[in-house]
Amino acid sequence: MNIALIAHDNKKKLLVNFSIAYKHILEQHCLFATGTTGKLIIEATGLNIQCMMSGPLGGDQQIGAKVANNEMDLIVFLRDPLTAQPHEPDVQALLRLSDVHSIPIATNIATAELLIKSLERGDMHWREIIRQSKIHNRK
Ligand code: PGA
Repeated sequence: MNIALIAHDNKKKLLVNFSIAYKHILEQHCLFATGTTGKLIIEATGLNIQCMMSGPLGGDQQIGAKVANNEMDLIVFLRDPLTAQPHEPDVQALLRLSDVHSIPIATNIATAELLIKSLERGDMHWREIIRQSKIHNRK
């Protein structure tokens, strides 16, 4: 599965700790992250992560492009709802595209825990089926 990890500044420590706790699951998948988030997770865990640009410079949009291309299966995006973000339109665009394409996206730690556990149980296998069928049906 392709998994994206993103966190706003006030949530980065939380996502780093999440990545440490669930490293044994995350390391079985293909990981992507926005620039700063990815760098911090790599430093803390040694996980292999493909880092995009920093969020405010276009990283959220790069993840969004993968969603639009059916190349992203799960997103953990720990947002900070109490701080204004200069790139709020990009954040909204990523959330919107995830809804358009029915991509599971956790925007807080409680949902992130549920998603990672369902991933471990194998509940996300439907994504592989959808990805294959869309490849075959692509016009
Ligand atoms: P960052 O981007 O990981 O580069 O900080 C995250 C964001 O704010 O969207």
